Amino acid sequence: MSSRPALVWFRQDLRLADNPALAAARKTGAPVIPVYIFDESLAHAPGGASRWWLHHSLEALSGELDKLGAKLILRRGAAAEILPDLVEETNAGHVFWNRRYFPGHIEIDKKLKSSLTDAGVEVETFNGALLREPWELKTGSGGPYRVFTPFWKALKQAGPARADTEANPRKLETKKANVKSDKLKDWGLLPDKPNWAKDFEPVWTPGEAGAREALRDFLNDDIGDYKDGRDRPDKDYTSRLSPHLAFGEISPLQVWQATRAKMSEGEVSDSAGEKFLSELCWREFCYCLLFYNEALPETPLREEFSDYPWRDDKKGLAAWRKGETGYPIVDAGMRQLWQTGWMHNRVRMIVASFLIKDLLIRWQDGEAWFWDTLVDADLANNSAGWQWVAGCGADAAPYFRIFNPVTQGEKFDPDGAYVREFVPELKDMPAKHIHAPWKAPDDVLDKAGVELGKSYPHPIVDHAAARKRALEGYEKIKRG
Ligand SMILES: Cc1cc2nc3c(=O)[nH]c(=O)nc-3n(C[C@H](O)[C@H](O)[C@H](O)COP(=O)(O)OP(=O)(O)OC[C@H]3O[C@@H](n4cnc5c(N)ncnc54)[C@H](O)[C@@H]3O)c2cc1C
Repeated sequence: MSSRPALVWFRQDLRLADNPALAAARKTGAPVIPVYIFDESLAHAPGGASRWWLHHSLEALSGELDKLGAKLILRRGAAAEILPDLVEETNAGHVFWNRRYFPGHIEIDKKLKSSLTDAGVEVETFNGALLREPWELKTGSGGPYRVFTPFWKALKQAGPARADTEANPRKLETKKANVKSDKLKDWGLLPDKPNWAKDFEPVWTPGEAGAREALRDFLNDDIGDYKDGRDRPDKDYTSRLSPHLAFGEISPLQVWQATRAKMSEGEVSDSAGEKFLSELCWREFCYCLLFYNEALPETPLREEFSDYPWRDDKKGLAAWRKGETGYPIVDAGMRQLWQTGWMHNRVRMIVASFLIKDLLIRWQDGEAWFWDTLVDADLANNSAGWQWVAGCGADAAPYFRIFNPVTQGEKFDPDGAYVREFVPELKDMPAKHIHAPWKAPDDVLDKAGVELGKSYPHPIVDHAAARKRALEGYEKIKRG
């Protein structure tokens, strides 16, 4: 047992249970000092919606640590300077953290580890964010996977790197550390004037308890419908775990173990459980892609797409962001995003396809908007998701697969309930016409109180013509 305290540096692991860094710190028997550093000097600083989540998540973490008698020390600034200062101030003998995988973060962590070690501090780092770290799974020829199905097969066969989750600590060795902490509210993470996040509150419970509850509800109530219903935005069949996973309020291992347990108890069928776990492993795949392709957030993996003839269309981009494109399923998705900080996966694909292929706007512009407005904004999933839809990523949808926003709406929101929820101007439109109001007879529009061009926009592009134009652009880059 060491009398010098052990610092636990929380990052994208805002939880106490199954937190290998915290578990290791406890095992030293030394007093534990938990620390969070808000570092905006890093590339890809959190967007607005993530900052809202971060505030509440830190509040929840701090509350849980309080119950164990520990105070979460908050500092703002460059971690590369603040962490060594904190080590000195507290005379810490150990520093523990869970590894990060994003470009820029890895270099900072490596430098810190080596400088602290040189200064005589014991630094230990762990995998707390992934089932398998990116370098653990390799193809037969020794390279990283670029295709999802073999990646998933390999991961399923190998299983998670750790067999068991770390238990929730009931006790924590602490010491009244005389260390100054910032006040969370002074960081100004919450929006003010206007408070555009007020509608997030009834939808989400950031923090570890909220994450556990979301997982429990999903496994008890929805997973049976997941396989067939996960593409239906009008239903609530997906787990909504994404922001909890993005902030590490729950680990993928906890999700994996809980799902497997339900499967072995016979409460969840193998096919439903496997489908869900395979989607969870898309996250692992995206992390792997980003780890081996640092430029994934900016640069198309398929180089020829750098020459795609994109359009500079500020008006189109603004209409897309506001959910005023005149295509109801696109508008519903973009408004769901703005109102709740989240969008259903099927609709993410539809709105992304619309921006890239109907409007010919660079996918990076859409990616940036998602980054700012999603509570689950995750560099790996977001950049891989956008490259997937754009057709320029690894294992991506072929470029020529262009979603038709009307037929997608009719197929996945057949009664129009999703559109009605987020586009109230169309709430009285009958299901038959709700996905293409411009084709509805005048008397139907009158009865529904819809005046095209006034109460709801005309389509900003003609999909058939836009599709043709997108394919012509694709032919150009194919010819080189
Ligand atoms: C253009 C685009 C951008 C995206 N941006 C993000 C993002 O910033 N952050 C993010 O977490 N996801 C992103 N996704 C992936 C996916 O849409 C969300 O993870 C999913 O909708 C979250 O809802 P859920 O938790 O209910 O998912 P569930 O279906 O319940 O899945 C469980 C978990 O598996 C993971 N997962 C599921 N599908 C995917 C996928 N296609 N790619 C990667 N991981 C997946 C997520 O961690 C998710 O929480 C994006 C997808 C697209 C097409």
